[in-house]
Amino acid sequence: MPDSSTDSSTWLIEGELLESTGSCHSRLRICSDSGTILERGDLDGTPDVVWPEGVIVCPGFIDIHVHCRDDPGGSQRHKEDYRSASEAAIHGGVVLLGDMPNNPDPPIDADSYRRKRQLADEKSLVDVVLYGLLASGGRPYRNDIPWKCYFGPSVGDIDSWGDSAVAEVLSPFSGRVVMFHAEDPAILATNTDRPPHEQRRPPEAEVVAIQTILTICKQLDIHPHIAHLSTADGLSVIEEARRCGQHVTTEVAPHHLCFDIENRHQFECGQWLQMNPPLRSATDRLALMQGLISGAIDCIATDHAPHSIAENDEGISGVPLLDTFGGFLCHLAREGVPWPVLIDRASTTPARLFGAFHDGVLGDLQPGTLASITVIDLREEWLVERNQIRSRAGWSPFEGIRFPGRVAETVIRGKRRDPATSNRIVTAQGTS
Ligand SMILES: [Zn+2]
Repeated sequence: MPDSSTDSSTWLIEGELLESTGSCHSRLRICSDSGTILERGDLDGTPDVVWPEGVIVCPGFIDIHVHCRDDPGGSQRHKEDYRSASEAAIHGGVVLLGDMPNNPDPPIDADSYRRKRQLADEKSLVDVVLYGLLASGGRPYRNDIPWKCYFGPSVGDIDSWGDSAVAEVLSPFSGRVVMFHAEDPAILATNTDRPPHEQRRPPEAEVVAIQTILTICKQLDIHPHIAHLSTADGLSVIEEARRCGQHVTTEVAPHHLCFDIENRHQFECGQWLQMNPPLRSATDRLALMQGLISGAIDCIATDHAPHSIAENDEGISGVPLLDTFGGFLCHLAREGVPWPVLIDRASTTPARLFGAFHDGVLGDLQPGTLASITVIDLREEWLVERNQIRSRAGWSPFEGIRFPGRVAETVIRGKRRDPATSNRIVTAQGTS
């Protein structure tokens, strides 16, 4: 049997490895054929890549909440498709994304799911997990996927349920992982004539929805994952449920950690920061930051929505955030979140959440894991500018902001890619 560690498809990297457990200077031997890390430690050989001090080599980032907008019908590819979304992901250092199912041609049964899967496999440059959509009368048509339930309405012509119908829709999904858009439709309905946007979707809509969802999921033995948590009170409800023994996970989006209704107009793109759930108070924002640090919030997920500025001007909700995933982590580090915590929330814990839905191990840099790696250069600032954005949305809420670092390289299953162009990078020996 040949020694795979000396095969021509292997390459050697040296640098500061940073994981959720801490950091160390070491080497990794990577196989670009199998796409895995073969060895780690004080390895023989001349490194193909030596990352200098000030650069960190991290387990690849995972964004479990993305709207790629691509589907077999193809009616929204002017907004984004799997290729452009994956280029934005590479720019942001994201190696695996979870694609939402609220498409015009949604994955509601085995056949529609298979067709969407085929599309993602053909076009995406990064790994993709597809959520199935909970639909009226729907059954869990696969065992190896996560599900999305719109408890309240958001973007797209899809059904949302509220507490009158959600138990019936959820009942076949016992034992599954279901991500929830948690806003109570009855509360939203009583606030439709209250501009601005954040008053039409008040905090209590989220809090009440989370209470209802957790109660029903407990009865049905469903693992609820609360998407884009935006309120301190919502987090309190989740923590109380955990104290009572319920397994609940949640995520926070970059916009809810950075912007609030008080500071939004200090930012260049403040006028376009409309999303569901909306921006909240500074108090909520700071509580979410504390929740991220403490671990009460399990992961960072962007809720990337590739709407153009013109569409946002017309009142559509959602902002594009994939390109800036890695840069935003650098911002959080400057704000005081330790890097190992950031790696946990952006890679290790999302890898665990997606473990049953994805082939190959992610979340650390140990031998046997996929060689899907994000390299961050902390030596210079990154001024975010519109012309750098790879998403077809063509803009970023962070324009004009200087992040204290940027993604230097994104490795997908052993193959190196340039974040600025998505092009392959070839090592000196031409083996990567
Ligand atoms: Zn979303």
